[in-house]
Amino acid sequence: MIDVLVVGGGPVGIATAIRCAQQGLSVTVAEPRTGPVDKACGEGVLPAAVRRLAALGVVPDGHPLRGIRYLDARHQADAPFRHGNGLGVRRTVLHAALAERAAALGIPVIPVRVTAFDRFDGHVAAAGIEARYLVAADGLHSTIRRALERETAGGTEAGNGAAGNGAGRPGGPGNGAGRHPAPPRYGLRKHYRIPPWSDLVEVYWSAAAEAYVTPVSPDTVGVALLFAKPPRTAAPAVGANGSRTASPAVSVNGSRAAAGPDGDYESRLAAFPALLDRLGAAPPASEVRGAGPLRHDVARRVYGRVLLVGDASGYLDALTGEGIGVGLAQADALARCLAAGRPEEYERAWRRVSGPAWRFTAGLLWSRNQPLLGPRIVPAAQRLPWIFPALVNYAARA
Ligand SMILES: Cc1cc2nc3c(=O)[nH]c(=O)nc-3n(C[C@H](O)[C@H](O)[C@H](O)COP(=O)(O)OP(=O)(O)OC[C@H]3O[C@@H](n4cnc5c(N)ncnc54)[C@H](O)[C@@H]3O)c2cc1C
Repeated sequence: MIDVLVVGGGPVGIATAIRCAQQGLSVTVAEPRTGPVDKACGEGVLPAAVRRLAALGVVPDGHPLRGIRYLDARHQADAPFRHGNGLGVRRTVLHAALAERAAALGIPVIPVRVTAFDRFDGHVAAAGIEARYLVAADGLHSTIRRALERETAGGTEAGNGAAGNGAGRPGGPGNGAGRHPAPPRYGLRKHYRIPPWSDLVEVYWSAAAEAYVTPVSPDTVGVALLFAKPPRTAAPAVGANGSRTASPAVSVNGSRAAAGPDGDYESRLAAFPALLDRLGAAPPASEVRGAGPLRHDVARRVYGRVLLVGDASGYLDALTGEGIGVGLAQADALARCLAAGRPEEYERAWRRVSGPAWRFTAGLLWSRNQPLLGPRIVPAAQRLPWIFPALVNYAARA
């Protein structure tokens, strides 16, 4: 029997495995996709997350990020990072670096999609492996989480984890599920072959969407679009991992603005004329990928010997680009709890490390959704130059 089976070999799953190995636990990862895994992501890694990666022994190539810039048609505000640089890094590069480190530590990765598991008094069994703990790091649409939630709703839950108190949000008085009227949000991303024009992550705001631009190498930038879509309209179809590849890329100017994710991407990008000017005739450097709906309220993370981490453990929005950093912090907290033999303490630790980013993102999203406040976010950030950087650096603590 091994100590930990990690289901899902995305960045947070591999990071959890590495942290477990560093704590002296025997660990295996189950990940069905081989090779460097790509995913819809803004690909901005915040300074604290860069330090966490280094502590794992992972130093990926990328483009240094000096801070965040908000822009609308008439305003601009900069929030420099106060504690070192962040990193713009292609997901494939990040994944390869993490996988290489896991391999160097002798962590086995089995090419399996885990869809079922059995729980016993002292262990969990899945994919032919018996482990003292199963960690679900299988992303936004986590199969393991949904199985646990179904089981709990059916009243057959056999776990001995901390009882959920219904507070899906760190520090929040309830999970808010079912009572957030804002339509669900989605993300699309694409890369362009063009030298970065800034070493800040630029977030362009329009009435209906945000576009954020992350330099990821000396000749490539990624552009991620975030937007709300009413539930009844066709949303980008997503796979179990919340990501999909779209049809062949079209030009920035949308000259072949077809239907489907590319056409959707091009038409949404058209809401950002200043960004289109910047991109000019830059050729696409990747296909469109999408993910969503982004928000998943999760009541609890500890189900006895089965525990949730990363996007699988709950996700709010990509607006503040914290997902990887928060996930790495959760991975560290989880590995410590498992190594100490106190899995029940993970729920509290999860809330502690996830709270600042969650609160910042929730506040920003709420403001974004107010008809009077939304258009004033960038002007306010420009007029209050001490508050915007303070908030960005507070949220980036994880
Ligand atoms: C548009 C967009 C922009 C974003 N921008 C940023 C940003 O700039 N900075 C940032 O830090 N974060 C950003 N995020 C968030 C970030 O992408 C996620 O928080 C991060 O990928 C979470 O990692 P994860 O390992 O938990 O999940 P994932 O990266 O989704 O990995 C899950 C893995 O589990 C595997 N899997 C799925 N099901 C199973 C199964 N049944 N069995 C075994 N394996 C399975 C999948 O193949 C996948 O490899 C963004 C997200 C979106 C959608």
